Amino acid sequence: MARVALVTGGTRGIGAAISKALKAAGHKVAANYGGNDAAAEKFKSETEIPVYKWDVSSFDACAEGIKKVEAELGPVDILVNNAGITRDTAFHKMTLEQWSAVINTNLGSLFNMTRPVIEGMRARKFGRIINISSINGQKGQFGQVNYSAAKAGDIGFTKALALETAKAGITVNVICPGYINTEMVQAVPKDVLEKAILPLIPVGRLGEPEEIARAVVFLAADEAGAITGSTLSINGGQYMA
Ligand code: NDP
Repeated sequence: MARVALVTGGTRGIGAAISKALKAAGHKVAANYGGNDAAAEKFKSETEIPVYKWDVSSFDACAEGIKKVEAELGPVDILVNNAGITRDTAFHKMTLEQWSAVINTNLGSLFNMTRPVIEGMRARKFGRIINISSINGQKGQFGQVNYSAAKAGDIGFTKALALETAKAGITVNVICPGYINTEMVQAVPKDVLEKAILPLIPVGRLGEPEEIARAVVFLAADEAGAITGSTLSINGGQYMA
């Protein structure tokens, strides 16, 4: 069945692939983004998917943004919490600003986005919440105490909310991508990527955004109602959890 889907950070990278795949699956999609207007406009003109700018680390901005999406497209039945940032540095050099930005954007956003839609989903007895965590939330990563903590939090959020919403027809699942070929990973120096990262990945290549998007479409389906509280690792065999 065609439903309204809202994807945070849905205009670039993995999120753009998710938005496009949900549209191709027949859903009415809204793509949120944070600040890159040029990328959002390009995405909108290429895909004809409406874009909505707000900061997912702000509860008030999320509540207001979701209200606008619902007024224009209808109640949100599928929520993909994908927006995320990195502020990498060794912990002994990490500033409070670097810690807070990552925690608020990568973990706080799950509260900010999910809380405004959950009552509607409960009332309609249907919902699909899909959170995009990371392999580094499963295993930890040097230089990413902030990111790993937030992404591990996304997994705990998923499991607890899945328990609370199971009887209301709402599923909550989390995907943990490994290294995926987006701007976030293209920022890694080429020699580090080739010498230190690719050898760790059994399939011998980066994942593609479309491979994450395919899993989101699967979890978002009406037919996936018994899949809840699950953690899906998509990392080329790098970490089997
Ligand atoms: P990108 O940097 O390519 O895109 C990030 C998206 O999130 C952009 O659309 C950006 O908006 C949006 N965003 C960032 N901050 C905010 C904010 N405060 N409010 C609203 N939107 C925001 O990231 P990826 O596609 O690589 O990553 C997507 C998700 O997947 C993230 O959660 C990331 O942690 C996770 N992930 C990525 C991996 C990878 O290898 N790439 C591996 C594991 C997990 P704008 O365009 O306006 O900046």
